[in-house]
Amino acid sequence: MKKYALVTGGSRGIGRAIAVKLASAGHHVLVNYKSNEEEARKTLEEIAAAGGTAELLPFDVANAGEVTAALEGWHARHGDDCIEVLVNNAGIRRDNLLFWMTDAEWHDVVDTNMNGIFYVTRFLIKYMMNRKYGRVINVVSVSGVNGLAGQANYSAAKAGVIGFTRSLALETARKRVTVNAVAPGFIETDMTRDLHREELKKVIPAGRFGTAGEVAGLVAFLASDEASYITGQVISISGGL
Ligand code: NAP
Repeated sequence: MKKYALVTGGSRGIGRAIAVKLASAGHHVLVNYKSNEEEARKTLEEIAAAGGTAELLPFDVANAGEVTAALEGWHARHGDDCIEVLVNNAGIRRDNLLFWMTDAEWHDVVDTNMNGIFYVTRFLIKYMMNRKYGRVINVVSVSGVNGLAGQANYSAAKAGVIGFTRSLALETARKRVTVNAVAPGFIETDMTRDLHREELKKVIPAGRFGTAGEVAGLVAFLASDEASYITGQVISISGGL
């Protein structure tokens, strides 16, 4: 029987690296994305080149109806199959100082980074609990742990997901379903392309940005059998930031 893993936002950046890593660890990966099919296909190519298997499963995590339709459709096609690893990675940034922040900047970030996790996880958690096995890994941010000026929307959403992670872990621990969060610092992806890299490197103790592959390694460990006694935790991966 195939072991399925769903990675939201798997078309680019950290999500792509996680998808490739989980496929290398033997999972059949469902690569979710919102609109960038071209990049999502590159993730499939990388997985195939590494000897893994994967398929695309596009939907907008922020749209409850789309989430339900996509996941119901997948289960209808797959009978008894179960998605046993869920990586909630899809996310966006819309930075602004609060007094200039628009309703759209607030709601887009909260809808994608926090409400999306609620819609996807609520759907899949019942299958994991019925099977008495599962892994949920939420990608948050040091911004959700410490705060960052210009990111009240993003920090609020990520901090909300940290609370969600801790509470859900308490609900599912006896069913052998672990729920954890990883909190990256500054990672080299499209999301950080517009930042002042040289200035930021000065405040990162490790003196550099992290790579998507480094985050993927941590996520793959939390998704593995070896991590079965770790739940409800938030693990930073930030070069000491
Ligand atoms: P990225 O390169 O900008 O990629 C974002 C991914 O999320 C893309 O695959 C995108 O799909 C997908 N996505 C965005 N909105 C979506 C939606 N509504 N529904 C489904 N998919 C959606 O970002 P990244 O840097 O890899 O970030 C990945 C995660 O890590 C995010 O949660 C981010 O907040 C977190 N994080 C990143 C950093 C960093 O320094 N990069 C630091 C801390 C935390 P499309 O390709 O279709 O647009």
